[in-house]
Amino acid sequence: MAAQQQVRAGFVELYGAEPEGVWSAPGRVNLIGEHTDYNDGFVMPFALPHTAVAAVSRRGDGVLRLHSSDVDGGVVELRLDELAPESDRNWTAYPAGVVWALREAGHPVTGADVHLTSTVPAGAGLSSSAALEVVIALALNDLYDLGLQRWQLARLCQRAENVYVGAPTGIMDQTASACCEAGHALFLDTRDLSQKQIPFDLAAEGMRLLVVDTQVKHAHSDGEYGKRRAGCEKGAALLGVDALRDIPYADLDAALARLGDEEEVRRLVRHVVTEDERVERVVTLLEAGDSRAIGQVLTEGHASLRDDFRISCPELDLVVDTALASGALGARMTGGGFGGSAIVLAEAADVDTITKAVEEAFATAGFTAPRVFEAVPSAGARRVS
Ligand code: ADP
Ligand code: MG
Repeated sequence: MAAQQQVRAGFVELYGAEPEGVWSAPGRVNLIGEHTDYNDGFVMPFALPHTAVAAVSRRGDGVLRLHSSDVDGGVVELRLDELAPESDRNWTAYPAGVVWALREAGHPVTGADVHLTSTVPAGAGLSSSAALEVVIALALNDLYDLGLQRWQLARLCQRAENVYVGAPTGIMDQTASACCEAGHALFLDTRDLSQKQIPFDLAAEGMRLLVVDTQVKHAHSDGEYGKRRAGCEKGAALLGVDALRDIPYADLDAALARLGDEEEVRRLVRHVVTEDERVERVVTLLEAGDSRAIGQVLTEGHASLRDDFRISCPELDLVVDTALASGALGARMTGGGFGGSAIVLAEAADVDTITKAVEEAFATAGFTAPRVFEAVPSAGARRVS
């Protein structure tokens, strides 16, 4: 049974009536542009075929009922007038946070019944959280006829995650889930949210993009994220700009010189400024039809995240090194760092060799076996029935 029919049937079983509709929203992989989003810079995600799918109906009595088939514990019932930031440490904070953010922004949401399931692996850096938020936001936007645009839904979802859940994330994940198109990567300027769909149809060119989920999740990743973010803000303040985005690549050396003995801040600044330039280079290459050449840029991005931003880990480095040694066109860690996933760009003919080499390298190193899958640039959030 297709996921949407299963979710529909699950909804009927739980709530005793057909849902008003079913929506889906994907996870994402960031092709390039890491840790640039909270520096007002550029990112370039594309949507995964993996999605959160939600069956939703309205309610008029101020009650929100939530159920995920991926979590034990049955239906969770919340009262809308009792929703409060950081009051919920469970998965329900994500969908409830979206309802809270919509109501806070003045939208007349009076309740909902929700049943969902997701094929986006949670905690793998593939943004299962944004998929969850965006699928709820789109469903409520449609059902309550709120007339919000995709980028506005993404903003509200970000607010839900930042304020309600209490996780300091940028705008990329939610925008990717809400706005991506199949066969394209999304070039997003996180300062003004202007965006451009960039053709990224690797299969047509005989290439593949692999995602290697290392299954590693380091316990300190949240604190480290906060430290990097604070360091970037310090760099911007020392350089007298609103955000590191405002340092042109051509002025990087001068900017670094001005940072004097602030060694750590210098490394962070160098990553962010060069990473923005790498995003622009990838856009130029893809628009010129030179997709193979982006591999080198991805690999440069990894070195910058490993050596300057210092958020890689042995498992991620092993994926990248092994893939490159086995003929990959390029490879890098993706997402927040300290675990999660890496991406590998390869000729279709080399995929099996690379996959095997990575699996063997992990076994030899005594690491948990990685999960390897192909990522086809897929559709963004949509109503499915
Ligand atoms: P990522 O977004 O990288 O997957 P996060 O830590 O941001 O990781 O979000 C993961 C959290 O999202 C999970 O801990 C859980 O609370 C929630 N979540 C993700 N998928 C589901 C699901 N299918 N059902 C319920 N909650 C989910
Ligand atoms: Mg997340």
